[in-house]
Amino acid sequence: MKSEEWGKLMKTKEYIELEDRFGAKNYKPLDVVLSRGEGIWVWDVEGNRYMDCLSAYSAVNQGHCHPKIRRAMMDQAEKLTLTSRAFRNDQLAFLYEELCELTDSHKILPMNSGAEAVETVIKCARKWGYESRGVADGRAEIIVCENNFHGRTLSIIGFSTDENARENFGPFTPGFKTIPFGDSEALDKAITPNTVAFLVEPIQGEAGVIIPPKGYLKRVREICTQKNILLILDEIQTGLGRTGKLLAEEHEGIQADLTLIGKALSGGFYPVSAVLSNEEVLGLLQPGQHGSTFGGNPMACAVARAALKVLKEENMIENAARMGDYFLEELKKLDHPAIREIRGKGLMIAVELHEGTPGGARAICESLAKMGILCKETHTYTIRFAPPLVIQKQDIDWAVERIAKAFEKI
Ligand SMILES: *Cc1c(COP(=O)(O)O)cnc(C)c1O
Repeated sequence: MKSEEWGKLMKTKEYIELEDRFGAKNYKPLDVVLSRGEGIWVWDVEGNRYMDCLSAYSAVNQGHCHPKIRRAMMDQAEKLTLTSRAFRNDQLAFLYEELCELTDSHKILPMNSGAEAVETVIKCARKWGYESRGVADGRAEIIVCENNFHGRTLSIIGFSTDENARENFGPFTPGFKTIPFGDSEALDKAITPNTVAFLVEPIQGEAGVIIPPKGYLKRVREICTQKNILLILDEIQTGLGRTGKLLAEEHEGIQADLTLIGKALSGGFYPVSAVLSNEEVLGLLQPGQHGSTFGGNPMACAVARAALKVLKEENMIENAARMGDYFLEELKKLDHPAIREIRGKGLMIAVELHEGTPGGARAICESLAKMGILCKETHTYTIRFAPPLVIQKQDIDWAVERIAKAFEKI
């Protein structure tokens, strides 16, 4: 090996050593150190190029460093970045209007991270239960699903069923009840007079792209309406085009009472999340009852406005539907005994391996990284493919060729 190449290799190792020395080890990343991104591609510090098939867990649906979102961010950064909500800013009203129009919502509450949007919605649903439904103080119950992923804060992990996420972090917030995902009759049975809401992901992302039976959300919507409880859809991952529709709820022609979006709301530039709802629920919040220093700040609003605009203008949602179908079709041609199932909706796709496959999904991901494709295993046996929504047919052909090779090796 030439000394120059060796020097470059040392660079990756040095970054990793430094990170491991000073950082908490709450992640187990693939050992690539990225320094640049454009569209579906990212480059590491040694100049190697990779196709990004994770899209920062669907936060960069619009592609890395989208020029129009970048422009909006730079322009805003030169004008005004933060006012706090103690004062108004000239971006927030426009974000509200544009987001309401786009998603057919009536009221918006802006936050930063996805977990904050989930925490916000829990507060709102409980308040609605006490003030509009007359639930006795302190008794409100929210129903959630097994294998859910809604974030990492204490209340949220308290109703997670992933032991690794919960272990030794208790005591937890009470008031949650867990039912199986995809089973609408279980929801019907679990509702009590104290139930105020059902919180669910339209497709469970972190659980491994688990798609519920057809008609599930429609039936869930009927039950929630009939029993007068709020339907809360966590679309932080499924929303904003990922599944081939603006919101995944559209696949079943329903509307949630409260919808959570985040991640791609900023196209990956900045943490921006929002609760989308109506006057009946969000109208209950009075000044001082909820807030965030950064929530709704002018930078976030300017970035989110641009991120939404390019999603529509550049037909990324339609592209996700078409390219998702094509990617899935091509992957289904992989005929390998280690594959248990290939499933997906839009560009949210998973390949699940049989239990006991040597090396599990991690081995495939590591082998793919060497061939220039970055993706991440979820749990032990599932590989998720979720490239930015700007991917084209020839990119998918390029990827599938390599994915087939990675499978040949096991
Ligand atoms: C990522 C995610 C969250 C949490 O978002 P953060 O920004 O990481 O806090 C919540 N719900 C779902 C469905 C997610 O995929």
